[in-house]
Amino acid sequence: GDIADGVTRGLESLGATVSETFMEPVIRLGVTGLSRAGKTVFITSLVANLMERGRMPQLRAAASGAIQAAYLQPQPDNTVPRFDYEAHLAALTGHDPHWPESTRAVSELRLSLKVRPGGLLGAVRGLRTVHLDIVDYPGEWLLDLGLMEKSYAEWSADTLSHMPERPGGTALVQALNGLDAARPLDEPAIQAMSASFTAYLAQTREAGFSDCSPGRFLLPGDLAGSPVLTFAPLPAVSGSAPRGSLWREMERRYEAYKREVVKPFFRDHFARIDRQVVLIDALGAIHAGPRAVEDLRRAMTDILGAFRPGRNAFLSSLLTGKRVERILFAATKADHLHHSQHGRMTAIMQALMRDARRRADFAGAQTSAMSIAALRATVEETRPHNGDTLDCVRGTLLETGRQAALYPGELPEDPSVLLEPARAGAATWLDGDYNIMRFAPARLTLKPGEGPPHIRLDRAAEFLFGDRLL
Ligand code: GDP
Repeated sequence: GDIADGVTRGLESLGATVSETFMEPVIRLGVTGLSRAGKTVFITSLVANLMERGRMPQLRAAASGAIQAAYLQPQPDNTVPRFDYEAHLAALTGHDPHWPESTRAVSELRLSLKVRPGGLLGAVRGLRTVHLDIVDYPGEWLLDLGLMEKSYAEWSADTLSHMPERPGGTALVQALNGLDAARPLDEPAIQAMSASFTAYLAQTREAGFSDCSPGRFLLPGDLAGSPVLTFAPLPAVSGSAPRGSLWREMERRYEAYKREVVKPFFRDHFARIDRQVVLIDALGAIHAGPRAVEDLRRAMTDILGAFRPGRNAFLSSLLTGKRVERILFAATKADHLHHSQHGRMTAIMQALMRDARRRADFAGAQTSAMSIAALRATVEETRPHNGDTLDCVRGTLLETGRQAALYPGELPEDPSVLLEPARAGAATWLDGDYNIMRFAPARLTLKPGEGPPHIRLDRAAEFLFGDRLL
């Protein structure tokens, strides 16, 4: 027994060494976040900065010169759309810079890095190749995981109970509650309900709320108009709903959505991720007010739950032992703030993450929270104001093309007031010019070896995959 075990162990460790030497390591980096959080800009700037490496001092492998080359290669997954890097980079850095088209569905890009290993091995082994497979997917799809554990009845009850607190929800909840769900199904009525429900979800997103599942209702892609995306929550029926009723049909479609839309995404994409960054427009939520922050906090908890195998039976069956090793929550668009506010922003993100970790009872992957700007569109400017000074940011306004120095307003000094909406009371944050802060990307003249300007993108890269490049 002992000897045989020893031999097996020996062979196993030999196997590991052999495959490490001959197989090129792959890091699958998931990039997600709700729509407009900044995924497209993040990936484009990250890849451009890794290819150039002039602005990545906090990524150790870049600073030390260990990364000798970085180049794009055909991705391994033949049926996943390729992330349109070249078009997005041209949009951001062209003569007339503009924001690229946002993420609508899953896409992928392979960046390969030639790395010189450090230490003694470096001299012996020569260059090795590490592939960074970046997988971009909408955060809305991730939040759908919550549906996997809910029956149609539970989902309906939950969804209807949140409606009154949300914009546009009062009228809809009244209309839906007034229905007799046991009545015979009728397609035009289902379509009308589904359309009102979709419009309501879009409106809640617009108002800064994070949880707006089912996620595909907002980003339908080629499923638009199909039965899996044509349903709505209904008030409970007493007893069991008769065959051919509105309730039965809605329930059938809800279950089909879980089985035919949510499940394949988790199986084909999510289950294969090694490292994950979750981008968050936290400034937008803070500006929108305590309800939106509360909702963001709940969404972060749900997201961490998705990365906790064991909690969700459906997920455990897909992951079978594999797990995401690192998760970064990054607040984007930090260039809307003068750096004097960055410390507060980071403290808020860290407090939100600690809270989410505690609530999700999360012990697993290494987590971190920071505030970044993937593409810096502003410069800082301190202006005199009523005998005092204001820390502003200056940039080109998207609407008018004019330059302006704007003052976003303040973030709370103590992040805990955001975690306890009761304490925040009527306080409003970022109530300066934040609501008119829509900057265009700045016109750039990049020298060779210079990626687009950013804030802490190199730190984010170091946390996410820096360890695998040394
Ligand atoms: P996606 O939907 O997550 O792919 O989001 P995008 O990457 O398309 O970003 C949405 C919008 O956020 C962009 O069109 C920009 O207006 C803004 N944005 C994203 N990243 C930055 C950034 O680093 N700085 C600034 N100022 N704006 C950004």
